[in-house]
Amino acid sequence: MRAMAKAPVLTPQADDFPRWYQDLISKAELADNGPVRGTMVIRPYGYGLWERMQRELDARIKEAGAQNAYFPLLIPQSYLTREAEHVEGFAPELAVVTHGGGKELEEPAVVRPTSETIVNEYFSKWVQSYRDLPLLVNQWANVVRWEMRPRVFLRTTEFLWQEGHTAHATYEEARDYAARIHRDVYADFMVNVLAVDVTAGRKTPAERFAGAINTLTLEAMMGDGKALQMATSHELGQNFARAFHTQYLSKEGTQELVWQTSWGSTTRMIGALVMSHGDDHGLRVPPRLAAVQAVVLAVKGDDAVLAEVRRIGDTLRAAGVRVHVDDRTDIPFGRRAVDWELKGVPIRVEVGPRDLENGTAVLVRRIPGGKEPVRIDALASLLPASLEEDQALLLRQSRERRQSRTSDVTTAEEAVEAAASGGWARIPWAALGPEGEARLAERAATVRCLVAEDGSVPDTDDAPGTIAVVARAY
Ligand code: AMP
Repeated sequence: MRAMAKAPVLTPQADDFPRWYQDLISKAELADNGPVRGTMVIRPYGYGLWERMQRELDARIKEAGAQNAYFPLLIPQSYLTREAEHVEGFAPELAVVTHGGGKELEEPAVVRPTSETIVNEYFSKWVQSYRDLPLLVNQWANVVRWEMRPRVFLRTTEFLWQEGHTAHATYEEARDYAARIHRDVYADFMVNVLAVDVTAGRKTPAERFAGAINTLTLEAMMGDGKALQMATSHELGQNFARAFHTQYLSKEGTQELVWQTSWGSTTRMIGALVMSHGDDHGLRVPPRLAAVQAVVLAVKGDDAVLAEVRRIGDTLRAAGVRVHVDDRTDIPFGRRAVDWELKGVPIRVEVGPRDLENGTAVLVRRIPGGKEPVRIDALASLLPASLEEDQALLLRQSRERRQSRTSDVTTAEEAVEAAASGGWARIPWAALGPEGEARLAERAATVRCLVAEDGSVPDTDDAPGTIAVVARAY
């Protein structure tokens, strides 16, 4: 049994990154593939990560003034067709219900791929006058998009997400709100909780959400140098308002169409966490996200050890650490240790009979790596600071990876090469343009986003000095 502790359980990242990812998802018990292609079963440990993400995001969403609501899963097919660009963008990905209760339906119902249409149907009833604005709504739900190249968490046919939908009196208010969500909800959460370095930018017209006038994105570099779109925030202009007659009586007594936003973040973030912070031993969960920040393990099942691990658990809990006590001594210690390592719990406190005699425990730090004996009575003061250090280290590593693998280039050819060798390229957008962007696709690269020279998000597609970030992407 002890041999299990040493056996290589994951394909090394350097050998085959996608295989490593699949191995980790299964060995860390995050998810299984579902029976219908592209679907997934999220296992309790994976779902626990999602619950913590939900909690952190939900608090920020509410801080930004939005309230939660719930709209139906099934949308009349005719709603989708009302906004021309929207239906064109989503048609290839739709799942359509044609039968119910054994009969063919009079009107087929679409399983929501996103809810702009049904939300607008109701917003048009709820909004009467300028006093009803802004209307700020969010929903936590599942959506279905029939993905051709599914990959667990990153791109699934059914995924869990939050989708925000808002209506405002003016273009400026809507624009500012989309930017606020992008910055104060998404970027803040990703940097400060997920410890993932993100590049905030604007999508090119070709990559924009179907039906939007502007899409703001956060892009992160994964462990293999590829990019992942982490979340998006859209300015919808008046496109859906026009299609659904969502209008209000202005102070001046005129009927005006509302200006809208929508924004979403999904279970893809779990995949991002794995691909950003994982290593050949498994996942590394940032302490601020972790449901279990420290696990206290009884090495052996003797009474004194069991009593001591429980006591340490209580002490750490009282010090504000999220602790789990692992006293399953009928499972070999080595196997349990490997399991927690795979799951990426930031800190392990291991206690055996010999440690007890010395008044010490073995402290194992998953994030920087390494183990050392520490005095049991020092644990409660030590751990909170160690967890904060680990949180900062993960973010630093994520940032350094992006910085060291990003190069400034001047031609599309150089950008393609940089992307092919597992990096990002920054190229003046004026030198690339929509034609150059279209040619990148033939070489498996895409413009991830447009950024301004100072790292801010450009106000328009063609603002002078705009830089295109080019990469291969998931
Ligand atoms: P959208 O409504 O298309 O802007 O999507 C919102 C966010 O969902 C995107 O920024 C992606 O991060 C994420 N996303 C899109 N498609 C999928 C998918 N099939 N599985 C998981 N996440 C997705």
